[in-house]
Amino acid sequence: MFEGEVIALREQAFVNGEWITASDDSVQSVLNPATGAYLGSVPQLSVRQVDGCIRAAETAFYQWREVPVRERCRLLTAWYELIMAERERLARILTLEQGKPFAEALGEITYAASYIQWFSQPTLLDTGATLPYGETPLSMLVLSEPVGVCAAITPWNFPAAMITRKVAPALAAGCTMIVKPAPDTPFTALALAELAQQAGIPVGVLNVITGDAQVIGQRLTSSPTVRKLSFTGSTAVGSTLMANCAPTLKRLSLELGGNAPFIVCDDADIDAAVEGAIAAKFRNAGQTCVCANAIYVDDSIYDVFAARLVARVQQLKLGRGDEADVVIGPLINRAAVHKVERLLADAVSKGARVLCGGQRWREDANWFVPTVIANANFEMACVKEEIFGPVAPLVRFTDETYLLQQLRQQHAGLAAYVYSQDLKQIQRFARDLEVGMVGFNTGLISDAAVPFGGVKASGMGREGGRQGIEEYLETKYIKLSN
Ligand code: ADP
Repeated sequence: MFEGEVIALREQAFVNGEWITASDDSVQSVLNPATGAYLGSVPQLSVRQVDGCIRAAETAFYQWREVPVRERCRLLTAWYELIMAERERLARILTLEQGKPFAEALGEITYAASYIQWFSQPTLLDTGATLPYGETPLSMLVLSEPVGVCAAITPWNFPAAMITRKVAPALAAGCTMIVKPAPDTPFTALALAELAQQAGIPVGVLNVITGDAQVIGQRLTSSPTVRKLSFTGSTAVGSTLMANCAPTLKRLSLELGGNAPFIVCDDADIDAAVEGAIAAKFRNAGQTCVCANAIYVDDSIYDVFAARLVARVQQLKLGRGDEADVVIGPLINRAAVHKVERLLADAVSKGARVLCGGQRWREDANWFVPTVIANANFEMACVKEEIFGPVAPLVRFTDETYLLQQLRQQHAGLAAYVYSQDLKQIQRFARDLEVGMVGFNTGLISDAAVPFGGVKASGMGREGGRQGIEEYLETKYIKLSN
């Protein structure tokens, strides 16, 4: 589909309005996960360059917070419009470096842009108050102020959306931002920064830095100038970053790993549940933090559901994201393939049965055939851990209370999905599932207008909705006395 096209990639970092290379010219390579081919490289910035970026973001902050809210929102709207105008080009870059099918990449760019559109509403900043408790009128005021310089560390599975859902509220609130994208997918981030520059977002307000994750992470977390870190990624790295932010007492938003149960109750519309499971499980080849992990099916409909799911999964077309009609792309790297193989081997050794898939598709690059396994249970690693791949373990259940008790033992608490027609049952699940988000009779829940986030080991803070901007605001109380 992209054959013969030259897709320009920005091979520089963006700091204080300038496109820079590393001071010692060192670089990091980026590969196409579908072919293993070299795509390009980005600079490996030095500690001094990272520190320089933090200083630039600080200088820019004291100017940016003075820019009237409506003007900040106008600049965000201009950025949104440029992204929408260039969505095809951005989606091509995204598919090349991340692997997801082009249609999904286009969907992600639109979704990413929708966060900028959402947070460019000035009314989201109408958050102050005049309290009625003072002895004189207007003597107790509450203001919202921007937190200050913020940092974002983002993952490879949504190279555009994970950035805009942090940057847009930060900038609307009057904060400046330093983004460190995942090393696998920096080019989408850099292309977004290019458009922010074109939109007229002032120098130093948005910066994108590349290089060694640990070095950059250490500088960002230890700097007292950086007042907030927003991280999306694994629970292990999130908890390390949280510890590293403790000495400087930063504000934190952490969107970490999930393990979303997908529950199909006895009265569910089975065809709708199968479609929901396909969407929730196999989107991005299973590599989203809200992907359904294991699928729990009521005993009375288990066999019918399993047969229909397998038939549907066998229709999913694998291939490079730039090929027509492909719905399942490659996994991000070889390590991801090995993880899926380890989880499958563990499940089979404990009595699971492969109903379809179960092996690599081709030996080159990082392909795994969409897989369904039966007879899964809570002892298996694929049920306890986040799979992050195209494997659907089916767990049979007979007792809702027991199921909920087992699910409560899980550390993660991001999303859950339930298919049921019974209002009382829906109310029980809505209350009892220990997660941040629940979808009933749907496999897709995300939207810029709603609060996205988790509980327990899935992290803290919310992105999107009204809540998303509060993460970038600090409350100040003013007492006026005469
Ligand atoms: P995933 O398993 O999805 O790759 P990670 O948590 O490893 O998730 O990575 C998410 C982001 O965190 C990436 O941008 C990665 O470079 C970054 N990262 C990984 N380790 C560290 C670290 N020690 N310090 C700072 N950032 C890190």
